[in-house]
Amino acid sequence: MRVLVVGAGIAGLTALHTLREAGVDAVALEAQPVAGGRLRSERRAGYTLELGAQFFFRGYRATFALCERLGLLPELRAVPRSAALYQRATLYPIEGAPSWRRPWLSLERARAFARAHRHALRRLPRLVPTLLRHRARLTFTDQRSLAQLDHDSFAVYARQHLGEAALEQLLQPLVSAMTLGEPEDVSARYGMVLVRAALGGLFTLESGVSTLTQRLHERHRERVVLGTPVRRIAFRQGRAVGVETDHGLHEADHVVCATTASAASRLLPSLFSPLKALLAAVTYSSSTQLFVGVRGALLPAGCYALGLPRASGSFYAGVTDDAVKSPHLAPPGHGLLHGFTVDARAPQLASLPHDALLHALTEELRRWLPTLPRAPALTLVQRWPEAVCLASPALLVQRRRLGPGLHRVVPGLKLAGEYLYAPSVEGAVTSGLDAARAILESS
Ligand SMILES: Cc1cc2nc3c(=O)[nH]c(=O)nc-3n(C[C@H](O)[C@H](O)[C@H](O)COP(=O)(O)OP(=O)(O)OC[C@H]3O[C@@H](n4cnc5c(N)ncnc54)[C@H](O)[C@@H]3O)c2cc1C
Repeated sequence: MRVLVVGAGIAGLTALHTLREAGVDAVALEAQPVAGGRLRSERRAGYTLELGAQFFFRGYRATFALCERLGLLPELRAVPRSAALYQRATLYPIEGAPSWRRPWLSLERARAFARAHRHALRRLPRLVPTLLRHRARLTFTDQRSLAQLDHDSFAVYARQHLGEAALEQLLQPLVSAMTLGEPEDVSARYGMVLVRAALGGLFTLESGVSTLTQRLHERHRERVVLGTPVRRIAFRQGRAVGVETDHGLHEADHVVCATTASAASRLLPSLFSPLKALLAAVTYSSSTQLFVGVRGALLPAGCYALGLPRASGSFYAGVTDDAVKSPHLAPPGHGLLHGFTVDARAPQLASLPHDALLHALTEELRRWLPTLPRAPALTLVQRWPEAVCLASPALLVQRRRLGPGLHRVVPGLKLAGEYLYAPSVEGAVTSGLDAARAILESS
């Protein structure tokens, strides 16, 4: 049996790995000159720049199991739970886990935070019964219906149940930092999955989460063909029979299409209407990342993230110091600032040439971190026109309509990609596993 996987992001690499472990003759074709898709990094001047995904959540069971199979579990680390939030021109530190060495400081910070956010916090406990009642289903890979949570946007749900202050001051910054979109764009269910996941804390691998795709690529290097865009998935009598690249037709018994939904739409002919409807319901946030290598730390000591609510007027959802996430990502004594935008707040960024964009991003960062050096050790800009799938209520409806029958709609064709579950590395890994297992079961 021969399988061709289109795309070597984490979904495609997981499918490739699972198939090859089962002894299947499988090959992945990747359009870009590098593997990893939106889970990849670049090494520059001693820094590791995580261009896409930044962290794992505690509930990433399939991802952690994959890390274990690859011998990566010893590299797993909890990210410090220290953040700060801007509110009305003041920076409020938040400590997810109080410091027992300096309990008075933690207490003082908690008091100041509670005072400034009292309206926002007042109705927040109302989330608890919903989180407890649905905790088993508020995961990245559970597809079962959750009634109202499936049909409203997170913004509508939060405004109705928790009030405007909770939405704007606390929940919007959280959801925007994780989706690079707005709470209006995502379903209440996805928002609640993110809230639940964030309570469990963040995790990274010592050399960054993209070590996962690097390790998979290393394992199957000779089976990942880079720089080879697939132009079309080929069909004969309604069955997928291979793919067409610039070098011609490559025949296969099964094709796994592990691209973004928009790329999948272009590769599939219009006759498969249930799949087309699913793919058409997928929308993405778009985001620009600015990385700045600096000597020392510019965020408050030990602080990983700075959240910028949209009311602050910034196009950044937030800024992190990735050297706090893992000191292995920057040279000793250096910080690695990473600003990530919600591009929808600043459409003008999309048309700027590189230097003007770099200037706009740097100056906006300086507004929040005035001591940002004029000549930093490193700067890099990465644009993601399709950053994170937004999991709107419309997408949930289409996905549920297809249910587990997704892999039987078109003989010989399996879809994989983050958009098939609550969008995340975990969703992508699970979709790759599903596609591989469906092939193994059918043979
Ligand atoms: C800035 C940013 C931050 C994020 N932060 C997090 C986070 O902290 N935690 C988290 O869980 N998730 C995060 N995500 C989301 C996460 O990165 C994605 O959900 C996940 O990596 C998607 O994997 P995928 O394999 O489904 O898609 P992709 O990674 O997009 O892989 C698809 C691959 O297909 C290739 N391809 C496309 N068309 C073709 C073609 N015609 N022929 C051949 N190849 C093709 C592409 O080049 C790509 O390599 C973030 C994403 C971004 C952009």
